[in-house]
Amino acid sequence: MEIEIQLTNSPIAGKIFPPAGGVAGAWLEFRGVVRGEENGQKIAALEYEAYPEMAEREIRRLLEALAAQHPCLAARVIHRVGIISVGETAIYVGVAGRHRGEALALLAKFMDGLKRDVPIWKRHALPVQSSAPHFAGQPELAKAGTPDIMRSLDEAMAKITLHCHPLPPVRVPLEESIGRVLRETVCAPEDLPANDRSTRDGYAILAADAAEKFQVVDTIHAADWKPRQLKFGEAVRVATGSALPCDGVRVVMQENVGRNGDQIRINKLEAGLNLRKRGEDVKAGQPLVSSGVRLDAGKLALLATAGCPQPLVSPRLRVLHFTTGDEIILLDQTPKPGQIRDSNSILIRGLLQNFSCDLEQRHLPENFEAAWAQLDLNRIAAADLVLISGGASVGDKDFTRPLLERFGFEIIFSQVNLRPGKPLIFGINGSRVAFGLPGNALSHFVCFHFAVATALAKLAGEIAPRFLLGKLAAKLDDKPCPRETLWPARLEFSGGEVKLQPLAWASSGDVTCFAAANALIRVPVNCAELEAGAELEFLPTTSMLGA
Ligand code: AMP
Ligand code: MG
Repeated sequence: MEIEIQLTNSPIAGKIFPPAGGVAGAWLEFRGVVRGEENGQKIAALEYEAYPEMAEREIRRLLEALAAQHPCLAARVIHRVGIISVGETAIYVGVAGRHRGEALALLAKFMDGLKRDVPIWKRHALPVQSSAPHFAGQPELAKAGTPDIMRSLDEAMAKITLHCHPLPPVRVPLEESIGRVLRETVCAPEDLPANDRSTRDGYAILAADAAEKFQVVDTIHAADWKPRQLKFGEAVRVATGSALPCDGVRVVMQENVGRNGDQIRINKLEAGLNLRKRGEDVKAGQPLVSSGVRLDAGKLALLATAGCPQPLVSPRLRVLHFTTGDEIILLDQTPKPGQIRDSNSILIRGLLQNFSCDLEQRHLPENFEAAWAQLDLNRIAAADLVLISGGASVGDKDFTRPLLERFGFEIIFSQVNLRPGKPLIFGINGSRVAFGLPGNALSHFVCFHFAVATALAKLAGEIAPRFLLGKLAAKLDDKPCPRETLWPARLEFSGGEVKLQPLAWASSGDVTCFAAANALIRVPVNCAELEAGAELEFLPTTSMLGA
């Protein structure tokens, strides 16, 4: 029997033809269409997931076994995976037989076996939000969903840490692993250096040889391996990095030696031996770079030295970022009253530079249904992190929360007792993570550093960012605030110490201070004044890396 199998993310065509071998006799077609109800609940879509290779293998095995009982000419199976909206085809099966009875029997048994034996499953049903379709412009709908509990900064960070899990690691070439998190501990495969080496261009002699004149008996270049036992009065010409000829030698710098043919005279003897001993840097088997560490240029060089061409690292994260707000205009446009240029897109792009990810950005219309209609659900299903800028609060047009809920995200919290950054939404859908970020520039900056960066670190398998302790460079004057504050600051050297210089900012819409900020000072609740020298917690920002 001729068999064709396809697993696909794309919609299944309305008309499908039998494979070449099945054009004679009966052609029987079956379509499994997503219905609007699942377990008594109204749904908008179903998400199917599969182990593709195993699924294809099992479908083939099943069809071949059934063809032995019900001889047919051909079978074509197309199974969709990803998010499939109600009314669309999730599975298509076509069976060609000389007689329709055989084709019917094979098809019926195949459908039974498919459910039982093939690793394709319904991952998730996306619920219909009864409030969603007419959401825009209806303030009461903004409050739909589970009730809000305002989280403290610590609680919010703990929730993110708890709900985000490391994604499965991948092996990639060393040159593609910069910025990724190492997910295995790499140990030295041999002693480093692997043998005693010269640190100078010069002459190796026995360390115990007190003579002034020596006979040059050989030359050892950096690439040579020429072990020989030196005798008293003998010297070997060596280069920086050359493996030394035997134990118990020292190297005399060439600058301190006079040479005449094969004879040398030592004019001055340095105090040091001018050599690196075998295993001096690290012994075979000792850990070189630990699991959970982000790879930078220095660590890559160390992995290269250790002969690790394909380290096990975090996968590149797939990030989708949507901006919202009809007032947002492109950078090359002149704002009319009420309009504002989009600064959040470039801010997010820049902040993500320090993480290994593929970013896709789009602007959404400020209308729930129009935004929903423009979204490619399979792209969202394939994303590890979804970020939505703006619309995170409870204004008439704020639809981030219901949009995330319709994507199937469970909202873990939607408010943090923090200034700036109170209306921050955090949602989870399986291994996927979403944030609704308040649109104001400074809120964005702050929420990225304490929340998004924590999630990214967890997804990559890294230790999440932690608060450090630092001293204020100047008095911090504030009005008592019932919320904790993450205050933009600049970490500077002053009086031989590293200190935190608080930056001036007027509101969460301030667009100037974070251009200079490389740290966020954690100011406690109801704290009016803090004197210079006060010790406080702070969070370094990603720009610290380039500071
Ligand atoms: P929202 O969170 O939607 O209430 O927006 C709060 C403020 O952030 C409003 O003044 C918005 O105009 C502004 N805002 C929202 N998105 C952006 C963006 N992409 N770039 C700059 N400002 C924005
Ligand atoms: Mg808005």
